[in-house]
Amino acid sequence: MGVGISYISIIKQTISRLLESLPTDSEFEFPLTFSATDGLDGSGSHQVYNQIQESPDIGSKNFILFAFKPLAIHDSANKLIWENERPNPQFQIRPVTLLAAKENSENVRHLMDTYINPYVADMEENGILLSQGLVRIKLLRTMFDGKMAGILSGAGGAHCQLCTATFKQLHDVELIRDGFPINRSITSAKELFQSVNEVEFLSLSSNDRLGLTHQPISDIDIICSSPLHSYLCIFRWFMTLVYHLQSGARKWSPSSLGIKNSMKFVSGLLMEKTGMKIDQPSSDGGTTSTGNVARNCFLDKNQFLYWVCSLIPTEYHENIKVIHTNLSVCLRIYNSDREINTERLDNLCKDTYEYIVIRFPWANISPTLHKLLAHSSELIRTCNNSHGLKVFSEEAVEVSNKLVRRYREHLARKMSFSLNTRDIFIRLMCNSDPVLNMYRKFTKASKKTHSSEPPDQEILFSQLTC
Ligand SMILES: [Zn+2]
Repeated sequence: MGVGISYISIIKQTISRLLESLPTDSEFEFPLTFSATDGLDGSGSHQVYNQIQESPDIGSKNFILFAFKPLAIHDSANKLIWENERPNPQFQIRPVTLLAAKENSENVRHLMDTYINPYVADMEENGILLSQGLVRIKLLRTMFDGKMAGILSGAGGAHCQLCTATFKQLHDVELIRDGFPINRSITSAKELFQSVNEVEFLSLSSNDRLGLTHQPISDIDIICSSPLHSYLCIFRWFMTLVYHLQSGARKWSPSSLGIKNSMKFVSGLLMEKTGMKIDQPSSDGGTTSTGNVARNCFLDKNQFLYWVCSLIPTEYHENIKVIHTNLSVCLRIYNSDREINTERLDNLCKDTYEYIVIRFPWANISPTLHKLLAHSSELIRTCNNSHGLKVFSEEAVEVSNKLVRRYREHLARKMSFSLNTRDIFIRLMCNSDPVLNMYRKFTKASKKTHSSEPPDQEILFSQLTC
């Protein structure tokens, strides 16, 4: 069961409302160009109420939300007439479809084929005609996490969503120096499927079919950047390295008993000394290592690095300090909106990648770590005009999942599942309406001075930004 609005209608309505929200003395010439980024995410463990169920197979515990975030409107002379500057992502997102279903390839394919794919090519080719004139549409697909990237691209079995490198190649020092060009695309994946029949395809090894597990679902290329999740995933990798060094293990085995014991010991001591809850069980069944905890640890809050070094042999102190500083700076660059010197960033990323592989040849390079160190400079240069990828962040859809949960429980009718879902969708629509948002009081996002950041990180950061 799903509630949605035609993709073309909601984009048309959003552009009209955005133009309505402009100052009355704004001058611009048609045709306009409207750019936006879209994406989707699933969420589970929603409250179940004793409601009238229109159909017994409704998965009321799970939702998938497809939404888009308007980025900018330019006029015919390429003059910027509107830009999304909302500091709070919950007011930026425009819902397109809310499907009551679990996040898996079957349900995502149904959502995309029914509500999205048939309209995207038409909009990009013909634009949208308003009463005032034509608006060209430029859509990017960036707002999703790693799991959804695998579902959309069909490359769920790949080690990297951006290049076709094998697991062994991710650890090859020569290849790291030469660089890993981004060579995956939806078109090339579709061509591979068309060149063989299904039986032949299934008989190929995972490497031969480039990690593809099913036909790509997205019709347009996806930009797999996931800046928000990068912090968390790379922090997890960093802490796993620390646990191995502390326990003396020299074979990568994150789920072994020795590493689990080391995790308990290290997280207990870090909790006592720094007050930060790292890798401890949380009440919702996950762990206490959230994005904010990861950010604070990479900023060396409460002498995090000093206490980490006190737990590992002295010979590794310098290695851990270099890796911590470089990863922290790369992540901040990746998540920023600053103009970046991509050549210097590329060198720093390659040096760090090589440093890790040479110093710790037994450590596995995780897909997210590889993506940051092998592809961030190319992504920043080619996809966002040499600016950090903050604008591509999946944070807005993640925040919307929290809104769905809140609206469902407190601000929607509960007597029927379809009315409940409909109310949630309408609330999401109102929440991000450009004209209604004119009446909200937004506090401008403060420009951080980075005064609390470690001096060595600050120097490196300033060398990479313009
Ligand atoms: Zn790659």
